[in-house]
Amino acid sequence: MTHAVPGPDAGAPASPSFYGLSRTRLGDRFGELGVPRYRADQVFSWVYQKRQRDASAMSNLPAALRAKIPAVCDLSLPANPKVYATADGMTHKFVLELRDGARVESVSMRTEKRLTLCVSSQVGCALKCSFCATGLMGLKRNLRAEEIVAQVIAMGDHHAWQDERFNIVFMGMGEPLANLDAVCEAVRILHDDRGLNLGARRITVSTSGLVPQIRELAKLNLQVGLAISLHATTDELRDQLVPVNKRWPIAELLDAAREYGHTVGRRTTLEYTLLGGVNDGMADADRLAKFARALPSKVNLIPYNPVPGLPWKRPSPEAVEAFAHRLYPHAPAVTIRDTKGGELWAACGQLGGLSPS
Ligand code: SF4
Repeated sequence: MTHAVPGPDAGAPASPSFYGLSRTRLGDRFGELGVPRYRADQVFSWVYQKRQRDASAMSNLPAALRAKIPAVCDLSLPANPKVYATADGMTHKFVLELRDGARVESVSMRTEKRLTLCVSSQVGCALKCSFCATGLMGLKRNLRAEEIVAQVIAMGDHHAWQDERFNIVFMGMGEPLANLDAVCEAVRILHDDRGLNLGARRITVSTSGLVPQIRELAKLNLQVGLAISLHATTDELRDQLVPVNKRWPIAELLDAAREYGHTVGRRTTLEYTLLGGVNDGMADADRLAKFARALPSKVNLIPYNPVPGLPWKRPSPEAVEAFAHRLYPHAPAVTIRDTKGGELWAACGQLGGLSPS
């Protein structure tokens, strides 16, 4: 017997979620009721800046408007996110249950310098990268803009909004460019200076290689950073690891990334997951350095985080160091991602309903 996956509207309230409305759209809704647009500015400030989510407490709004707000927009958020912390308290995994029962996972990672929030754009993923737990789930559905914004709020609330500056990376579950409209709407909402006022330069969207959508994103001129999940330096290997490569091979992908970087004036990040004995040889490092030099780019090396049931292995620390050293003199900027959250199944490529023990 098969069970239909409920759509995102299952169980939705009559009014749209506030968190999926841009200030312009909220102003439009107020306009339909004869309420001046500037009231939308006030509500945005209340919710995003003063963290007030009870309309009746928005004291500079007329009582009649406060009473109308629930019919205009729904201020509620997914209730009681589950939060798991690593022993050092630096990484947290969040599991949000959405209205239709779908679960979405997000991760916050703290370093000495900053807090980074890794958000999901889909429940599951259709792209089936061969090393990724999310890919094993298949695609359940796209997230809506409000469900993306809600992840940021859940993490901000948990950290009591103590970080004035934090970064957002769309590197959680799903391929963000396969859900471009909702991702861009969420970016606009997060960016609003009456809202969280998160600069586009603090936001990075990661893709496995949807070339037409990279070009579309460039046209939208949102100024967000672009990360390419490269993971291989030959089409032969990338076809196996990242199957979307068969449609848009490496050369086309890097061309699109170069154009994107040129349009928005930002360096592209090349994400490279190191799989022991598979893509961590010196010839791979040489080809990767060549790609990195040809773009304005930085390289982020990610030692693989094992996923139960998948055959890939994490390379030894010595192999990771050797690979990085081979790159250093030839590639413009190289970092090794300090693996976060492996004990929570929260590290890169591990989001997919695996439970912390
Ligand atoms: S790595 Fe990203 S694009 Fe590939 S299957 Fe996993 S979530 Fe999807």
